[in-house]
Amino acid sequence: MPRVGVREIVAVNQVLIKGQLLRYRGGENGFTTRFEKELSAKIGVRHSLTVNSGTSALIAALVGAGIGPGDEVLVPAYTWVATAAAVLAAGAVPVLVEIDETLMMDPQDIERKITPYTRAILPVHMLNLVCDMDAISAIAKKHNLLLIEDACQGVGLSYKGRRVGSIGDVGAFSFNQYKNLNSGEGGAVVTSDDRIFSRALMYHDVGSYTRNHELNSNEPYFAGVNFRVSEVTGAILHAQLPRLDPWVRRMKKRRKIMADVLSRSKAFRVSPHNDPEDGAGLTIVFDRAAEAKSFASKRRGVERLIDTGRHVYTNWIPVMTRRTHNDRLNPYDWAQREIEYSEDTCPRSLDILARTCRVSLGPQFPEIASYAFARMLVRGTA
Ligand SMILES: *Cc1c(COP(=O)(O)O)cnc(C)c1O
Repeated sequence: MPRVGVREIVAVNQVLIKGQLLRYRGGENGFTTRFEKELSAKIGVRHSLTVNSGTSALIAALVGAGIGPGDEVLVPAYTWVATAAAVLAAGAVPVLVEIDETLMMDPQDIERKITPYTRAILPVHMLNLVCDMDAISAIAKKHNLLLIEDACQGVGLSYKGRRVGSIGDVGAFSFNQYKNLNSGEGGAVVTSDDRIFSRALMYHDVGSYTRNHELNSNEPYFAGVNFRVSEVTGAILHAQLPRLDPWVRRMKKRRKIMADVLSRSKAFRVSPHNDPEDGAGLTIVFDRAAEAKSFASKRRGVERLIDTGRHVYTNWIPVMTRRTHNDRLNPYDWAQREIEYSEDTCPRSLDILARTCRVSLGPQFPEIASYAFARMLVRGTA
């Protein structure tokens, strides 16, 4: 996450001094609206909608795409729990797909998990790395499925020259403190589909009449929720957006430097990646889980993926137990077949996660330190 700086402070002050904290009071010249326009232009989509979190962005994207009760949505076994929870919030059920060594959804397992009730594939770009979008898009097309990208961890990244979030029918970004754009909390829905945008817009503001000039007039009003952001959030994001690309470029450069040094080690391999040129994160994979565990325990800035809590499906307690806030509002009862999960639902994913470590690119240190840091990792002195 780029450090919050003086530009954000100045922008937020402008909002506070004006005293118009509701985004709509900012109008066309408001920070939030300008941020959305600039984000759309950067990502290459027709519409962006700022919302209060990445989870909200996923829910609004799913609702926008018309996903609901009776639908199955394919999600990877390795992602933040919010991906699966968002599917449930839309009334559909998540079906777990194995990851491969790239740590993203395995296209071959997607084919195996498709049923007559599958409506959408929800690939997740994890760890500042990207999914195999060529293969996944081809499967979506072949089976006539919607493609919804969880790009919460991949804001600003590209896959073969196209920005993630813009490749599928609709994408979701998160702007929480850990992500590539940081407004503390925040998110965005990005799409070039007028109808998905209209429905997401309506849903995010209790069936909005406020921006009815932007709504597709063929879309009847339905009740929604409140996922709005305040103009304070919009001001932070607008101030920070110009720093996004330089930030991603720096991370890409560090990945290259470190991957180069680390790939000389015989103890592990740098994980294969779906687009090595565009990777802005780094993971290494061992032959055995015990080796990965010992490597991570002895080094700073290294974390074994199986030990990252609710990123691993076996730790998604509400999903594993299929529990929602009200028994009669339970998407599993509306599914067209029995959907069950167990520890063994995705054994290959667990094996890969137990053998893989994330390596910090050390953004807090100058770039020159990347060489030394990588050599220290290899030697075990980090
Ligand atoms: C962060 C994240 C989310 C949710 O974002 P919030 O802004 O925390 O709601 C969803 N999916 C993935 C993969 C994430 O990393």
